[in-house]
Amino acid sequence: PNAFLASLPTTIFTVMSQLAAEHDAINLGQGFPDTEGPGLLIDAAVEALRDYRNQYAPLMGLPELRQAVARSNRRYGLDVDPAREVLVTSGATEAIAACLMAVVESGDEVVLIEPLYDTYLPVLRMIGATARCVRLHPPEWRLDPDELRAAFGPRTKAILVNSPMNPAGKVFSREELELIAGLVREHDVFAICDEVYEHLTFDVPHIPLMTLPDMRDRCMRIGSAGKSFSLTGWKVGYVTASAALTALVAKAHQLLVFATPPNLQRAVAVGLSMDESYFRELAEGMKMRRDLLAHGLHALGFPTLPADGSYFVVADIRQHAAGRDDVTFCRDMVREARVAAIPVSAFYDPEGPPPPRHLVRFAFCKKPEVLRAALDRLRALC
Ligand code: PMP
Ligand code: GLN
Repeated sequence: PNAFLASLPTTIFTVMSQLAAEHDAINLGQGFPDTEGPGLLIDAAVEALRDYRNQYAPLMGLPELRQAVARSNRRYGLDVDPAREVLVTSGATEAIAACLMAVVESGDEVVLIEPLYDTYLPVLRMIGATARCVRLHPPEWRLDPDELRAAFGPRTKAILVNSPMNPAGKVFSREELELIAGLVREHDVFAICDEVYEHLTFDVPHIPLMTLPDMRDRCMRIGSAGKSFSLTGWKVGYVTASAALTALVAKAHQLLVFATPPNLQRAVAVGLSMDESYFRELAEGMKMRRDLLAHGLHALGFPTLPADGSYFVVADIRQHAAGRDDVTFCRDMVREARVAAIPVSAFYDPEGPPPPRHLVRFAFCKKPEVLRAALDRLRALC
C-alpha cells in the first residue's frame, strides 16, 4: 500500500458532514448550497441525456462549452482561443491536480498560501514536490511581502493562488496580485490560479492574476460550474491557459479522467451563456447571506473576520471557547448546539508550525431561514 495515502485522515468535510447527520445538525460545514442551480441548466442536462449525448465526450471538452468558457473570459478583457486554450475537466479538483502535474516534477518546489484548500498539499506530495507555505495573518488575512518573497528560490516551479479564497473569504487586491506577478516574473515560474469563486465577490472586483502584465502565458486559470451555478455535485471544471500549457494539462487529464460527461458539459455551456444579470444576482444573494450570518455571529460574541468572497466566513471563537481549541469546539458545537462548522486549523500543513486554534469556518451558502435557525441554536448555547 501507498504509505502516504494510508496515513491521510478522512477529509474534515466528510467527518463534519457525518457528525452533522448523526446529530441532526444544521450543516454550515461542507460548502454546498441548499438550493438547486438554475432550471435552465437542469433542463438542458435532461434534454442532453434524452438526446443520447451519453458516450465519451472529446478529450478537451465539447466545443460548445470551450467556446462558452472562452467567451466568458472576455469580461476580464482576456482574448482566449477556444480550440487551443481551454480544457474541460471533471471539477476544479481534477483541474488543480492536472495543472500541478503539467508543470511540477519530483524535487520541485511550489509556493502555497495558508490557510489552504485541502487537496493542494497531498496532491503536491504525491507528485514528489515540496510545498513552501506562506501564512496569511489574521484577523485581516494580511499577506506579508517579505514572507512571500522568502518562499521563492531556485527550485520554485510554481505558485498556487486561490482567490477568492477558501476558507478565508479573502479576495486578493490588485496590489497583492502585482506583488505575486512580480515574483512569478522574476523567478520565471508558473501560477496555478484556483478561481472557482470568481463570481462570488461582494463589493470588491475579482481580478484574475492572468490579466496582469506578462501573466497571460504563465497562468492556468481554473473555474468550476459547481460554484458558478450552485451545482456542486456536477463536477464540471475548466482551465484557461496558453496553448502550450493547455496541451500539457490535457495530457494529465487524459490519464486521470480522459473525458467529462457530455450531457453536463452541454448544460454548463448554456449556463455560461446566460447574461450578466444571472451572475450579479448570484453574488447579491450570497452577499445578503454573508451579511446575515456574519452580523448574527458577531452579535453572539463570535467576531467575524473580513470575507469579501467565496461561500465562507471565519469567526473567532475565543469568547466562548473556554480554553478549547477549534477542533474540540466544533465537535462540541455539533453535539450541543446542533450546528456544524469547520475548524480552520484543518486548512494548514499538518507538518508545519502550529496553526491558529481559535478560528472556525461557517458556510453561508444556505437559505436565509436556515442561517437564522442556526443562529437561534447558537444563541441558546451562548
Ligand atoms: N478549489 C476550492 C478553493 C474549492 O473550494 C473547491 C470546492 N469546494 C474546489 C476547488 C473543488 O471544486 P470542484 O467541486 O469543481 O471540484
Ligand atoms: N469545497 C468544499 C468546502 O470547502 C468541500 C468539498 C469537499 O467536500 N471535498 O467545503
